[in-house]
Amino acid sequence: MAQTTKREKRASPANPRVTQPVKRGVAGEPGAAGGPPEDSGRLDSLLGLFVHELRDTYNAEQQLITALPKMAELAEDQELATAVREHLEQTRGQLRRLDRIFASLNLSPKSIKCAGMAGILEEGEELIGKDLPGSVRDAALIAGGQRVEHYEMAAYGTLRAYAEQLGLHDAADLLDETLQEEGATDVRLSRLAERRINAGAMQGVA
Ligand code: FE
Ligand code: FE
Repeated sequence: MAQTTKREKRASPANPRVTQPVKRGVAGEPGAAGGPPEDSGRLDSLLGLFVHELRDTYNAEQQLITALPKMAELAEDQELATAVREHLEQTRGQLRRLDRIFASLNLSPKSIKCAGMAGILEEGEELIGKDLPGSVRDAALIAGGQRVEHYEMAAYGTLRAYAEQLGLHDAADLLDETLQEEGATDVRLSRLAERRINAGAMQGVA
């Protein structure tokens, strides 16, 4: 692949991450014809696919920012409600990380509808919308939440690998930070379920 994205220096406090635009304009790369990658929308290289997946993931996070407050509201268990609210804050930060990556590529954060996230959320809402005892609803909220986290982990793992391959090391670091947060949220939800919530749901109406 053409050498368009190698960075001279890694990030440091004095050299904030992904503030320098990557060089473009090499034949075969999005933007080579003079327009930025967003104008081309080309999927004929790993960089084009990376941008496409970034936009899909940006939309997934936006959908989640709309859904998480409703999930927190529905949670009966206060620790679960807190975990969901804290992940909402984290998710806002994850969106800002994506903004920084788009900025580093000289792209606006235009999103592409993420049908996968829409489907996971729709399935979860359908289940949660049924007349469930609170403890069972909490278990169902965790089930849906963990599907979301695993979907995001797959997306960020792929994006991080693409960024490394493309020499976008600062972007890879940012994507890794988000990947770690998604993984930690998944573990937190597992612990809540296995330590208390699944047992509560066994009793049915609490
Ligand atoms: Fe996320
Ligand atoms: Fe998440």
